[in-house]
Amino acid sequence: ASADLGRLAAAVLAQVRDVVVEHEEELGNLDAIAGDGDHGIGMRRGVDAAATAGEQNAAAGASVERVLTAAGEAWSERAGGTSGALWGSAVIAAGIALGNRDSYRAEDAAAAVDAFSSAITALGKAEPGDKTMVDALLPFQDAFRKEHDGGATLSGALAAAAAAATEAARRTADLRPLKGRARPLAEKSLGHPDPGAVSFGLITERIARYIQS
Ligand code: ADP
Ligand code: MG
Ligand code: MG
Repeated sequence: ASADLGRLAAAVLAQVRDVVVEHEEELGNLDAIAGDGDHGIGMRRGVDAAATAGEQNAAAGASVERVLTAAGEAWSERAGGTSGALWGSAVIAAGIALGNRDSYRAEDAAAAVDAFSSAITALGKAEPGDKTMVDALLPFQDAFRKEHDGGATLSGALAAAAAAATEAARRTADLRPLKGRARPLAEKSLGHPDPGAVSFGLITERIARYIQS
């Protein structure tokens, strides 16, 4: 029931931590091209704290809502940096949207994706094409909604949405950054994808694969 779902949420956070740790160096190198090089370490710090908070709360029998709000708070606090504040608030928003229930329907997952996305656009105010994680996030959200409306299973919708995010992250290489620290070095950034969009693609692919299995 509620505690099992809390444990599932914590297990997903542990997967997110693992994929960030695996790509920490690559994300840092990407951020160093036109940013300050800390996207790998910042994401790792944030998600480490988030996964730990999630595990502790899940072990104590907490609900999905409690696991995710605690994880999001820890993420924002420990990560520092723009991406940490955005991820933290988005994880909290998804947790609040999911709430504390004994079971969930596919529509609840779609609503949580919408809440996650709205938190990031409300806080960061980036527009599509600004070359930020929003350029991977919005295609993810659109694909998830479309699959869901078409009757796809959760795992099917996640897989399609993650593929859309990864492809969109790749396409950010063609963009000049209009938001964030990379803006002053926009020309250097051309030809390279946005670090926050790339990490979003990697994370969603990992979650999709985990939910599949
Ligand atoms: P910082 O820029 O503070 O060093 P990170 O390096 O961890 O933080 O994250 C950089 C990423 O944050 C960028 O690649 C971009 O995807 C994302 N980002 C920056 N500003 C915004 C914004 N206003 N809205 C959405 N995402 C943003
Ligand atoms: Mg940075
Ligand atoms: Mg920084």
